[in-house]
Amino acid sequence: TANVSHELKTPLTSILGTAEIMKGGLVKPEDIPHFAGNIHRETERLIGLVNDIIKLSRLDEGGGLGQWETVDLYEEARAVLEQLAPAAQRKQVTTRLQGGEALVRGVPQIVEEIVYNLCDNAIAYNRPGGSVTVTVEDTAFGPRITVADTGIGIPPEAQSRVFERFYRVDKGRARKNGGTGLGLAIVKHIVQLYGGTLTLESAVGRGSTFTVTLPLAKDNA
Ligand code: ADP
Repeated sequence: TANVSHELKTPLTSILGTAEIMKGGLVKPEDIPHFAGNIHRETERLIGLVNDIIKLSRLDEGGGLGQWETVDLYEEARAVLEQLAPAAQRKQVTTRLQGGEALVRGVPQIVEEIVYNLCDNAIAYNRPGGSVTVTVEDTAFGPRITVADTGIGIPPEAQSRVFERFYRVDKGRARKNGGTGLGLAIVKHIVQLYGGTLTLESAVGRGSTFTVTLPLAKDNA
């Protein structure tokens, strides 16, 4: 609760400060878009944060998550990469999808959450000219998605902590990326709920690879 309050307070304080300056009539008309932009950005961050908190509490309760269906991880990855294409372009990161169909049983929105968060991070924590390779395979252990990036990497001592709620390796950079600090906590939670496994391999300055293996579709019908 203390963490959540702190995370909510930072953008709220910034919005309040900006609104006070504008209210006081101290802002020149030509500067209004800049100040309004601040309020807009911080409000978007707050909405993202509240949405992630709601997702996590639903996962904590373990129910009410929607209708289970058969989802193709490859199709899901294709759609997510398409959705993230503008972000990748802005960061000058190329994305690649390889492999083929791998069917999982789950709630489509929840499966998307795994794929989206991993790909979003792989782009956000990359370097200009870097790349993201997403591989989808049907293995003997179950459908598997691997998201590998050539980004900044994660130091060994932080590798288990990145899955904790609100933990960030570099607060400044994470804030600039507009992240909530909850993405990987949500991924880990879902993978556990679905009985899958999640592994991370990373080297600072070289990149990170996240691998999620979900149970075989027939075992989870
Ligand atoms: P955030 O919203 O801050 O991205 P996440 O829970 O998704 O929150 O990730 C937690 C932290 O883990 C990030 O702030 C970042 O420091 C680190 N991280 C996550 N993914 C990557 C990655 N692919 N490469 C390097 N660091 C990463």
